[in-house]
Amino acid sequence: MYKNEVAFELQPKVIDETRQGETLTIERPKTVKSNGKKFYIESYGCQMNFADSEVVASILGGAGFDSTNEFEEADVILLNTCAIRENAETRIRHRLQHFSGIKRRRKGALIGVLGCMAERLKEKFLEQEKLVDIVAGPDAYRSLPGLIEEAGSGQKAVNVLLSREETYAEISPVRLNSNGISAFISIMRGCDNMCSFCVVPFTRGRERSRDHRSIVAEARDLYEKGYREVTLLGQNVDSYRFSEDPQLVGKKLTDAKYDERVINFAKLIELVALISPDLRVRFSTSHPKDMTDDVLHTMAKYPNICKYVHLPVQSGSSRVLELMNRTYDRAWYIERMEAIKRIIPEAAISTDIITGFCTETEEDHQETLSMMELVGYSMAYMFFYSERPGTLAAKKYADDIPEEIKKRRLQEVVDLQLKHSLVHNKRDVGKTFEVLVEGPSHRSDKDLCGRNTQNKMVVFPKVDVKPGTYVQVKVTSCTGGTLKGEVVAP
Ligand code: SAM
Ligand code: SF4
Repeated sequence: MYKNEVAFELQPKVIDETRQGETLTIERPKTVKSNGKKFYIESYGCQMNFADSEVVASILGGAGFDSTNEFEEADVILLNTCAIRENAETRIRHRLQHFSGIKRRRKGALIGVLGCMAERLKEKFLEQEKLVDIVAGPDAYRSLPGLIEEAGSGQKAVNVLLSREETYAEISPVRLNSNGISAFISIMRGCDNMCSFCVVPFTRGRERSRDHRSIVAEARDLYEKGYREVTLLGQNVDSYRFSEDPQLVGKKLTDAKYDERVINFAKLIELVALISPDLRVRFSTSHPKDMTDDVLHTMAKYPNICKYVHLPVQSGSSRVLELMNRTYDRAWYIERMEAIKRIIPEAAISTDIITGFCTETEEDHQETLSMMELVGYSMAYMFFYSERPGTLAAKKYADDIPEEIKKRRLQEVVDLQLKHSLVHNKRDVGKTFEVLVEGPSHRSDKDLCGRNTQNKMVVFPKVDVKPGTYVQVKVTSCTGGTLKGEVVAP
């Protein structure tokens, strides 16, 4: 776990700690001839990066590379990196040290850095980390086979160009490390939101939406292969907007009387939900300023769109939200939260919170705690502020809250959230939920586990069903992170 973040539920969301450093192996397509080289890839950061590593693996497999999960036997070692907080970058630097002996032991081995940290540091990476041969930003993955060749001939290879168009739309990501039941689908890239604390607009570039037909085709293909849950991924899914007519894409959401020519997010989730009532649809992340009632009504209309919204608040204080450039205030957030509760009463809401942002006072902090009381989040990802070079906040405001205060406030937020998660789960005891079986529980192979519509993990004694089956589970007890129960009907 990074030093400055806390996520106490093992759920695949913004940062899933159980997946950090995960490797990925693929089978090269049978129609592609081997080039005799193997790659090794480790992924860090958010779900978007894990989804990107699947795209990278697909591109390299198509270029004749085989994969390995032993870096010692790899010709190319790749790290797909995160830059969101300083500790994420420190972790990558430590990891690079770990690979330092490899070039002595394996002649010609190359080391490449991909993703947000590569984009942030660009050529500087090569100066700072002599070990690194390849630097590729998030929009440069199609050029990786060429970059590897270039680096193989002794030059340092860098491509950090950001694109306004690249969505890797037609690249079908490999999914061999998945549980075969749930998959992530990237629906857009980049972010236009310029929150003052955030490095993402600089590392992932301008926002662009992927063609809805390729998204629906990918979801349908997954369903036909036996997957039963897709999570649509984007930094701000509510601003998804695709049209073949570029003039219509640029229009504000309020102009969007969506017809055949414009697909907005409400329409997209409907299209994916219509693939089959047996395919669950989830998405992440929603932005309070853009989440429309239209989306909420579509969620309410389709039982297979999960009743769960991840709606990062970041702070409960309007003053701090303005400094963060979140473009909504406390009252707006409360109104959106009330809309969720009104339109989808059974929905669970989770959030992201940052403590100790520039100038945050005790009163501001109390407002964050009171927002938590008001909403009663089922789960939260909680961080203390980490200044990122180049961001608006780093340029405009002093990082003036001492670390011990940031941490003390974070602890108070965490303690309150632990309480709320337990209260939230206790309310479910006695209720019966439809659970999509994912497989054996991590703790005991006598138990199975799966999620309910609210994205809560449910554990129950094994019954004779395959992963991917829906079962009705009556909840009999809980902890803050898990519901426990027994199957009452298949
Ligand atoms: N796009 C999403 C949104 O706006 O809510 C989330 C993007 S970011 C990958 C995930 C979370 O990291 C943010 O919601 C925020 O809480 C946290 N984060 C981003 N920059 C941070 C920083 N400089 N210091 C601490 N936490 C940060
Ligand atoms: Fe970062 Fe804000 Fe974009 Fe989220 S919406 S990725 S926090 S700039």
